[in-house]
Amino acid sequence: MLSYEQARQVILENITPAGVEQVDLVEAIGRVLAEDVVAPWDMPLWDNSAMDGYGVRFADCSEIPCKLKVTGYIPAGGRADGIEVKAGCAVKIMTGAPVPNGVDAVVPFEETEETSGEQVVIQAPVALHQHIRFRGEDVRSGQTVISTGTIVRAPEVSMLASLGRSRVAVFLRPTVAILSTGDELIEVGRTPGAGELINSNALALAAAVREAGAIPRFVGIARDNLESHREKLREGLKADMLVTSAGVSAGDRDLVRVVLEELGVKQIFWKVGVKPGKPTAFGVKDGKPVFSLPGNPVATLITFEEFVRPALLRMMGQRRVLRPTFRATLRSDIKNRENDRTTLLRVRLEREGECFTAAVSGKQQTGLLKTMVDSAAIAVIPPGRGFMAAGEEVDVHFFGSYIDLI
Ligand code: AMP
Ligand code: MG
Repeated sequence: MLSYEQARQVILENITPAGVEQVDLVEAIGRVLAEDVVAPWDMPLWDNSAMDGYGVRFADCSEIPCKLKVTGYIPAGGRADGIEVKAGCAVKIMTGAPVPNGVDAVVPFEETEETSGEQVVIQAPVALHQHIRFRGEDVRSGQTVISTGTIVRAPEVSMLASLGRSRVAVFLRPTVAILSTGDELIEVGRTPGAGELINSNALALAAAVREAGAIPRFVGIARDNLESHREKLREGLKADMLVTSAGVSAGDRDLVRVVLEELGVKQIFWKVGVKPGKPTAFGVKDGKPVFSLPGNPVATLITFEEFVRPALLRMMGQRRVLRPTFRATLRSDIKNRENDRTTLLRVRLEREGECFTAAVSGKQQTGLLKTMVDSAAIAVIPPGRGFMAAGEEVDVHFFGSYIDLI
């Protein structure tokens, strides 16, 4: 049986990035860049003023106060070509306006006094090059400014726009087929009768797929017979990725793996040394990843988080596909009966000064959804740790991208 870490590694080894599309800049937010962006020009494009004030010659300002003759005015959007500021002179200059020849410092208005329209008194010491933004200081022409695999945020949009780009290449969002299995399932919208259970997994998985940035496609429910499984799994294999829930344990009605094999899906592994999530299976068909997740709602969500989400992010070209892990101090003891597998505990986090503390958020059975709702994070307890005392540190990572529970 693969360990939790091995399973994640094997999955990623079997994933190749999806295709690429061009999108408008604002549409690129949250997407992953599929090109290296090279600056076509310097930024800033010319030396310009960082303040509203006076452009001066540093050499004229060695003694303060000093009086200079104002010979010109350059507003933002104005031009400086042909203007030459001579010794003893200054120009009035606005933020962003090009700096004319001769000027090697800008003195903000606050540090000056205009005696008449034609003269200005510099009242504070001047440093060479102060308040001038030099050509190419930010970015040089030909420089790779943002590289493939970067997630586009507002700063990247700002940079791309500044470099003249209105469209950009990003990795495609994969479509993910979501299939539930089980005779007991009914769709949400009516109160379950005897023996019936709402198909919450399909909605939970669709939400998690969306949150990861991919596109969910509902395939419905496969009933616990071969024909229904064949029909629905075949349908599911049309998407870029297939994720099923339930029917993957060793029960006599657990048909998912049987039918996937029949349909030509090569099983890469079945069963992982992790709790919850042991019966998880992973396979590929023509490079298409297929995940068979356990059916208990908590196990479904946690195995999606730990195994499917990294695969999806990798398909979307992301460099970092695992959530950052940090250390938290346990607020209470943990007794971990199942200690030959990695145990993933739902924990409540609290902040104490600079540190996080973690406490198990209640009973950990995989049928108990409320503790999942109450938890901001997952604590990862390595195999072999049957008991951990309050005060010990554990690895934790956030669960989900929208964190509001600390
Ligand atoms: P199974 O692996 O088919 O034995 O299912 C394991 C458990 O998960 C059973 O208690 C199921 O009722 C439950 N379950 C299976 N599918 C779903 C679903 N789509 N939504 C919610 N619970 C489910
Ligand atoms: Mg079942």
